[in-house]
Amino acid sequence: MDKGIEIARGKTKVLYEVPSSPDQLVVAQGDAITAGDGARRDEIPGKGRLAAQTTSRVFRLLNLCGLPTHFLNGGEDDDDNEMLVRRCSMIPLEVVVRGVAAGSFARRHTGLQRGAILVPRVTEFFLKDDANHDPLIAPEEIAARGIASPNEIGAMSEIARLTFEILAHAWRHRDVLLVDMKVEFGRLIGGENQGQLVIADVIDNDSWRIWRHGREDQMLDKQIYRNLDPVDAEALARVKAAYEQVADYVGNFPAMRPGVAAIFVDDARMVDRANEVAAALHTFGIPTARHLASVTVTPGYVLQIVSQIEAGFARPIFVAIGDQTLRATLDGSASSPVIDGNDEPHRIALACAKLLAIDDSAMFGRVMLAQSNARSEMLRVDALLQQQLPPGAVIA
Ligand code: 5GP
Repeated sequence: MDKGIEIARGKTKVLYEVPSSPDQLVVAQGDAITAGDGARRDEIPGKGRLAAQTTSRVFRLLNLCGLPTHFLNGGEDDDDNEMLVRRCSMIPLEVVVRGVAAGSFARRHTGLQRGAILVPRVTEFFLKDDANHDPLIAPEEIAARGIASPNEIGAMSEIARLTFEILAHAWRHRDVLLVDMKVEFGRLIGGENQGQLVIADVIDNDSWRIWRHGREDQMLDKQIYRNLDPVDAEALARVKAAYEQVADYVGNFPAMRPGVAAIFVDDARMVDRANEVAAALHTFGIPTARHLASVTVTPGYVLQIVSQIEAGFARPIFVAIGDQTLRATLDGSASSPVIDGNDEPHRIALACAKLLAIDDSAMFGRVMLAQSNARSEMLRVDALLQQQLPPGAVIA
């Protein structure tokens, strides 16, 4: 990659400027593995390659979901473990989301059974400060010290929670339990959306705890290294094997499984409605096919299209707009799901997205994000109502 001077060096990565683009950086991940704030340190040849692959594929998945990240491209192929990111000023916090009581949380909450499922998820902030072992910090303290504004703290919690749920979904499909996870945030320095909060740094096998089959004794993450005693070549080889397996699993995290919504209308006067439904589906990135076909006028054509669509590669969902006999015929002839197309377009799109999300983590993330945005919008308008302002007004 086209890189300029080194601008920062962490325990496991190096950041370089990009001479042609001041708004971008190159992040190169190395072979070091550390624990205990750097008190333990080893090199595992090839770890940087696995870490860059894992990070870039996790970020690619998050980008596909529509979450804001600093990731642009790279990290995956023969590119010296380097990825290209948007430059940001880092917020000196580690944001941890937990779905299972483990690690420092289990140590701090001795009354809780280790391994207990945490619902709702717990979000914690830690101040990045190696000398003081990254202490836990309360949101009020973050705001009081001017590290981040209350709005940013809320946004970081929500984005971190969505990230956790998306990665938990992806891991669940590989029979692996995501226990907890750490992310870091930055504010974009320049270019489009300057100042915007984005997920930054790296997210790799050092950043989470993951337990195969939900069993702690089958952990696959850096905790294996933290627990080593002694650290010898054979033990490091076991750590590397786990990292290889994780990079392999994460390999197809960003692979979307193609789906298609086949919208049937049985009356030419309903075509505009079909277009509205298609537009709502496109907001989730779901491709559509539209057909005018009627059970009473062109019954053979209805059945022919169903067969044709189901013979295709993409997973179909049928949307029936019009007479209930059309829906009943599709229900009786198609083996794929059929949805009532007479509902509100956004609800139809959401229902289709949820069906495709069952085995597509990017679509799952889009559903989560749409729901989160709908909640924020309700809260925003409610806040305006409390101030007796019109819904379009901007809160200062
Ligand atoms: P705990 O607070 O239980 O030690 O860690 C919670 C989660 O955050 C775990 O998934 C752990 O791997 C991650 N985490 C905590 N501190 C760090 C850190 O300094 N670096 C990285 N990469 N992950 C961390």
